[in-house]
Amino acid sequence: MNAYVKSVIENVKAKHSNEPEFVQAVEEVLTSISPMVDKHPEYEKVDLLNRIVEPERMFTFRVVWMDDNGNHHTNIGYRCQFNGSLGPYKGGLRFQSNVYAGIIKFLGFEQIFKNSLTGMPIGGGKGGSDFDPAGKSDGEIMRFCQSYMTALYRYIGPDVDVPAGDMGVGGREIGYMYGQYRRLKGTWENGVFTGKGLSYGGSLIRPEATGYGAMYYLTEVLKHKGEDIKGKIIAISGFGNVAWGICKKAMQLGAKVVTLSGPDGYIYDPEGVSTEEKVNYMLEMRNSGRNKVKDYADKFGVKFIPNSKPWSEKVDVIMPSAMQNDVNMEWAKKIVDNGIKYYIEVANMPTTNDALFYLMEQKNMVVAPAKAVNAGGVGVSSLEMAQNSQRLVWTEEKVDEELRRMMINIHKVSKEAAEEYGLGYNLVAGANLAGFKKVAEAMMAQGVF
Ligand code: GLU
Repeated sequence: MNAYVKSVIENVKAKHSNEPEFVQAVEEVLTSISPMVDKHPEYEKVDLLNRIVEPERMFTFRVVWMDDNGNHHTNIGYRCQFNGSLGPYKGGLRFQSNVYAGIIKFLGFEQIFKNSLTGMPIGGGKGGSDFDPAGKSDGEIMRFCQSYMTALYRYIGPDVDVPAGDMGVGGREIGYMYGQYRRLKGTWENGVFTGKGLSYGGSLIRPEATGYGAMYYLTEVLKHKGEDIKGKIIAISGFGNVAWGICKKAMQLGAKVVTLSGPDGYIYDPEGVSTEEKVNYMLEMRNSGRNKVKDYADKFGVKFIPNSKPWSEKVDVIMPSAMQNDVNMEWAKKIVDNGIKYYIEVANMPTTNDALFYLMEQKNMVVAPAKAVNAGGVGVSSLEMAQNSQRLVWTEEKVDEELRRMMINIHKVSKEAAEEYGLGYNLVAGANLAGFKKVAEAMMAQGVF
């Protein structure tokens, strides 16, 4: 490994040992780009890598809100404006009890390169709170969102920083936050958020975009290997927004998603989550707030496997679509033993680094990285920003076609970047190299800061 790259990784490890997820994300990206740093000694001269691992700025703030019984609660809010060299900071907000600075920074760091890969003018950012939306009433959610926005509104804007959803933040939360932003600012400025409702400037296909994009990307991988998406059997985790988009598109493309998972275990549906009724039921399950995937098994009479993950199922394609570090070494070994040929990450950093490196070593397996595969979500967010700037509304067909083109291009530039460095069909390294290149160029051009 390049000595400068090594020193930066050591530096991050020493400084941020209390943020293991962030260290993991940095190590994964920097390891991949080492051959590019070999070729560009000027990066070290301006200390580009120590700059790129340090957020431009990061806010933490107090969020106090009142529950339905009149009791007050205090949560921590975060917003990390990681890198603005390509455009306004862009990235979602995650509301989940395990959120702390390390999670926000890992997500923000990944977002920089993901957003670069989309080819759109967006920088990288991320935010959230340790607020747990599970079991909260609508009024409690609204009061929390309003309080969160009251603290943050002065630091964001359509040309400054554009938040969106992530885990625990969907259309309802975006609506409450945008409403509070508008009230405080006294301007319309709806380009300040993406993932908005259609009635106030949201984009068609945005809710589906991450899942649809992942399926378009998978289609490209299969094409490269001379295979067809039709008839492929897929195991996914999660039953949230991303999983829903995957199931919808899989249905259209003739592929079959046979598993969904939740904190309680996973379901196996041999017929596939392949009818309108089943796909719509996923929305119902999510909106119920019960957070139990067993409900699906009960409703459709399929197998439920408690307290386990779907990674030992023999399928054609594995797509972890729930959350970080879902697949560790133990699961990776099962995946290899089952002779799985396609390991397509969808959730942000769903694989531990040891498992990821192990899977990438397998001769007969294609590994595709989340920051490329799930980029369709933020990609369509960026199309939503474009529509808001134009004050126009694009048709479903137009957005879907732009998304498809974007995903084809992300696969292509990743493939080409890996080839340029003699790495073969290495989509993980290729995505990091291609994503990093543009950010590095922009940072170099904008001088030292
Ligand atoms: N949270 C999503 C992501 O991880 C979407 C972000 C956005 O649309 O800004 O990319």
